[in-house]
Formats: sequence, structure tokens, C-alpha cells
Amino acid sequence: GYRSRAAFKISEIDDRFHLFRKGVRVVDLGLAPGGWTQVAIQRGVTDIVGVDLLPVEPLPPAHILQMDFTDPACGPKLIELLGGPPDVVISDMAPNTIGHRETDHLRIVGLIEAAIDFAVEVLKPGGTFVAKAFQGGGTDQIIAGLKTRFKDVRNIKPKASRQDSSEVFLVATGFKGRAAPAS
Ligand code: SAM
Repeated sequence: GYRSRAAFKISEIDDRFHLFRKGVRVVDLGLAPGGWTQVAIQRGVTDIVGVDLLPVEPLPPAHILQMDFTDPACGPKLIELLGGPPDVVISDMAPNTIGHRETDHLRIVGLIEAAIDFAVEVLKPGGTFVAKAFQGGGTDQIIAGLKTRFKDVRNIKPKASRQDSSEVFLVATGFKGRAAPAS
């Protein structure tokens, strides 16, 4: 079985976008307890690294790092463990909310922006980025920003995602590369 319900969400996304197969390198941001990585491995991925603040039970052949992704040392460490640039960066990270609407909102957006900054720094041209986001304030601007760096950007609500939750998944495919024109 899977370690998380979230596994069904990435399964649906993968059924549609075919992210996972043997030979693709994957980074899984906020992997605990490991459901998304389990799905990736089950579907043929052998080169995968994940990071979380929380400890994660081993999931061979995945490399697992327990660290804060926003620590500047984290990105280089992930790439070192992976052994090269990723084809796919997936992020299910969400900050612990404190109940203060504006603070929570800023932290959510900050974490997504950090994941995007990392993805556009390390992805191979043609690569894919998937991230959990939340409907409403900020997400439209995030999508607009992604569209300048990726050929196609979709906003997906998987069936496995509770209909009463505002979470959505941004799926950006066809990374244009680091020398993307300003237009
Ligand atoms: N996709 C996972 C799965 O299928 O098992 C579930 C991920 S869970 C919804 C979100 C995770 O993001 C939590 O485990 C949390 O610890 C992690 N997280 C939040 N902020 C983080 C940060 N700054 N660095 C690393 N992980 C973080």
C-alpha cells in the first residue's frame, strides 16, 4: 500500500502527463511520508532524491535528505545526491499554517516560489515541474510566471484531492531552459 493518500493524486497526474519512467531523474520536495516517491519508483524511476523536514523511512533506491528545503545548502545537496540535473521536479510541500491568514498566505507563496526558483535553476531543458498550490490570491501570478519559462502550464484538481480543499496542482511542462528569452 501507499504511505499517503497523496499518492493517488500524483498517480492521476502521472496517468495524464507521463512524468515517471526508467531513465528520468526526479526530485521530490516535501516527500514525507513518501507516497509520491513510492509511485515514481513503482512506475520505473530509479534516480530519485527527496527532501523533507521530517524523517522518512527508507525507500530504496531513493536518496532521502532530512533538511529544510529553504536552507540555501539544500538545492546543491539534492543535485549532488541525484548525480546530475533532474528531468522532473515535484513538490507537495506545504508550510504548517498558523491560522493568521496573511502570514499563512505569504509562507505558502514563499515555499512555492522557492520550489520554482530551484526548478528553473536545475531542470534539464524540456523538463517538468509539478507543485501543490492553493486556489486564490497569488496562484494566478505564479502561473503567469511559470508560463514565461515553460511551454505549457496547467492547473489540475485531481479527483483524489478533497473537493472542499482549495489545493490545486500546477503542472508545467517543456522547460524552455535557462537562456529563456525575456519575451
Ligand atoms: N507527497 C507526500 C507523500 O505523498 O507522502 C506528502 C507531503 S506532505 C502533504 C507535505 C510535506 O512538506 C510535509 O511532510 C512537510 O514536512 C514538508 N515540508 C514543508 N515545508 C518544508 C520545508 N521547508 N522543507 C522541507 N519539507 C517541507
